Order: sequence, then structure tokens, then C-alpha cells
Amino acid sequence: MHPTSTPPPCPFPDCRPTPSAGSSRRPTVIRHSLLRTQRGPRQRWRCRACGGTFTANHGTPYHRLRSSPARFDRAVNMIVEGMCQAAAARTEGISVSTLRRWTERAAQFAREFHDRTIRNVEPIEIQIDELRGHGRKKDDRLFVFASLVVSPRLWIANTVGRRTRRSCRLILRETRNRCAAVGRRALIVTDPFKFYAPEVRKTWGRTSLHAESGKIIRRNRIVRVNNELVWGTEEQLEEVLERCEDSKQVNTSFVERLNLTMRRSLACLHRRTSSAARDAQTLGQKIDLLQCYYNFVRPHGSLKFGREVRTPAQQAGLVSRRLRLRDIFMAFRPWARVPWIVDEGVRKAWGARDVCPDNNT
Ligand SMILES: [Zn+2]
Repeated sequence: MHPTSTPPPCPFPDCRPTPSAGSSRRPTVIRHSLLRTQRGPRQRWRCRACGGTFTANHGTPYHRLRSSPARFDRAVNMIVEGMCQAAAARTEGISVSTLRRWTERAAQFAREFHDRTIRNVEPIEIQIDELRGHGRKKDDRLFVFASLVVSPRLWIANTVGRRTRRSCRLILRETRNRCAAVGRRALIVTDPFKFYAPEVRKTWGRTSLHAESGKIIRRNRIVRVNNELVWGTEEQLEEVLERCEDSKQVNTSFVERLNLTMRRSLACLHRRTSSAARDAQTLGQKIDLLQCYYNFVRPHGSLKFGREVRTPAQQAGLVSRRLRLRDIFMAFRPWARVPWIVDEGVRKAWGARDVCPDNNT
């Protein structure tokens, strides 16, 4: 049982504490009862203003979970570290359907966390690429589109679907929405898929430079790389490349490296695997979960600074430390404090949550 001497504030959004409820000696939120769980009793609180009852896990994925949060975190962790569902379920001693439910729940929270925290990114170079996965049927092709801000290695957007104009539009729009309005042009590098050029122009317009990097492959070998500037001038390209610390020329190698990480991190994307993604929706959920894990939890091999290995979100200046899955999920408690969020705009997105109303007076 958690040390629960100070009652948390009421989490229900409709609750308007009346002056009489709060001003008396007794706090608005009081101990209610002990909730019996398999892991022992847990304190349940009751709000005297609205009558609602809740526990410390209110609003998080651990709410009403019949296992321990630690087990939930471990199982989710296995999924994003490349273990197949059946193996992860066996290791944790839970059923596959439970694990599926947990993954779905975790993905939903990861998506929301990502939505609120990946904002105001100031990109110099963005690389976009797609990765082919497969569904249950042999010719059921699913593509994962990913966009990466190169210098912090931040994976800012993903789209799962067919390789169509719509997917190109979605990935570019999401990427645009997560970036700050920057004065200088950002370099966007994609492969020569025909729909990128019109969609980049539409979504980014004059705030971007667009280059395509195509590979000519014969017998599984790259024989030539064709780099072409589609939108913008050579001088502008030179100026951007000078500011980039990572690329000396147009390339898509950083996003391709991300693709490899994705392949190795999800069992359904492994090569020659027997596990397959059920459908676009399930794959999308796993990708959302992986994206959050990649940006906030997993230390990135190329972000080593002495002994410290940073995460992409840390490097991008969005959070001040490496997070754990627990930090991410617990941030959803309505009274959670999130001092590790650095970026001003992101803090606003979490609302006034950082300011914990004092309920004891
Ligand atoms: Zn209340």
C-alpha cells in the first residue's frame, strides 16, 4: 500500500467544491474505504463535494488493473523490445488476450502522451520514409510511414496504412503540426515516391526545402544513389546543410536506421517471421507505443555524452531526464506533477496540472 497520508485532490472534472465543503476544518477529500486487491489493500478516497470515490491510479492505465503496475510495465516493455505476444504472455504468466488488452490500453495512453509532449520542435532536417510490413494474408501489405527530426533523432510522426497519397499527406501534416513556426526553412528529405513532392509543397510551402534521395538497386545491391532537389534553390540547400551537424549531403540514412530499429523492436515487423500484424489498426497501436518508448524511454546509441546516454526527447529539450514507462502513465493522474517537462509550450499542453491545489486547508 502506498503511503497515503495526504489526500489527493478530487480528479473529477465536473466537481465544483462548494466553499462550505472546503473551508471547514475537514478536507474536501477524505479516506473512504480500503479496496481489496490481490496485492493487498489500497486506499480509496471520497470527495465530499461531489461524492465521487477514486484511488491513486485514477486516470492511468493501471486503473482497475487486476495485476500489479510493475507487471503491466514489464509486459508492455517486452512488446516494444521485440518479443512476440505469445512469448511475453508466457513469461509474465498472463493470457494472450490479457496482454493484447494491455497493449491496446498502453498504446492509447502513449499516443496521447506523445500528442501532448511532442510539440514546438524546431527542425533543421527532417527525413521521411516508409517501411513495409505485412498483415495476416500474404499480399496484405501495410506501410509504416515515419518522420524523423535528424539532429535529436526524434521520431515525430507516424502513419500506418497503404502507400498512397493520403498517407503522404497525413504524415506530412502531422509532422508540420508538431513543429514550431520557424523562420528558417527546414530541409525535408524523402524517397522519390511521386506523391511526396505535391504534398510537401501543400503542407510546408515556403517553410521548407524538399529533396529526394532515390536508390537504384540491382541484385540486392545499391548501384547508384540519385539525389535531387525538388523544391528550393541550391544556395538554400547549401545553407541548410551547413547548419546540419549530421548530414553533409542529401540522404535518408537516419530514417532508414530508425526503420531498422522498428523492425527489430516489434515482432510483427521482423523479417521472415511467423507473427503478423492483425490489421492496420493493431499495427498502428503498436507503432504508437513503440514511438513513445523510442522517444522517451529508450536511450539512443548515438546520443552519448560522456557517461550519459540521452533519449531523443531529452536531446530535443522537451524533457529533462530519461523517463520510465511508469512516469509516462502516471503523468495522467489529474493531480500529477510533471516537473521533468522542460518545454514551455508542452507545459501548457498539460494544463494547470503542475499546480497541485492544496486540499488540506
Ligand atoms: Zn469532487
